Amino acid sequence: MQRLGKNHSGYHGERIDLRAVLREVEITAQAHGLASETFHESGEFKWLAYRRPPLVTRHSSRIYISAGIHGDEPAAPLAALKLLQENNWPEHAEIFLLPCLNPIGFTLNRRENADGIDLNRDYRNPKAAETRAHIAWLERQPKFDLYLCLHEDWESHGFYLYEQNPDGKISLAEKIIAAVQKVCPIDLSENIEGRAAKGGIVRPNILPQERPDWPEAFYLITHKSRQGYTLEAPSDFPLAVRVNALVAAVQAAIG
Ligand SMILES: [Zn+2]
Repeated sequence: MQRLGKNHSGYHGERIDLRAVLREVEITAQAHGLASETFHESGEFKWLAYRRPPLVTRHSSRIYISAGIHGDEPAAPLAALKLLQENNWPEHAEIFLLPCLNPIGFTLNRRENADGIDLNRDYRNPKAAETRAHIAWLERQPKFDLYLCLHEDWESHGFYLYEQNPDGKISLAEKIIAAVQKVCPIDLSENIEGRAAKGGIVRPNILPQERPDWPEAFYLITHKSRQGYTLEAPSDFPLAVRVNALVAAVQAAIG
């Protein structure tokens, strides 16, 4: 697969009309009967959480999916939209989907919010209003069996993921990689973002308590879930490939 070669010292790929994407998200979710809740508003934007109840209640599992915390990672909210359009959730799954955590970042085409705060480092002592509102929403939710955070990485050579699995549950990492590699190259580097990696899987050995700047995933693993994956699509490949990679990853994880 041909790389784009566009991303030098940052993301310089396609941009999206986020307002149009969020409108489409809202229409699609409504058409499929998902419940929605606005947990934050700023200017023209609303921060929405969508919920689809499980269709069978026996052995149901709660799955949290978030996207769009970094405004220069367009594949993530597009993947959230595609998942809603496909509406192919497993019967037993209770889905909590937050399609865009940083809409203002997308209008600026940058990672951070309007005040230059990287929201994905703001979950320990939150400064940004959108992080505080998101945490307040999370505090009202039940625990999740699984969390999935959708991202892109402009430096990576292919798709990869971070796994958090402190209790040693059955890992979903290999299953996710196997599904993604049918649609997108995998980053096979032995070191990704300064951490040991194997076959596109990073299992960081970090105690959140030892870190001052928490990403969303540290908040989730500390307070809301005992297993989760941060999914990283490679920005140097076409946008449609990245979207398909994230959708395939989510479907493999929840299937
Ligand atoms: Zn990101």
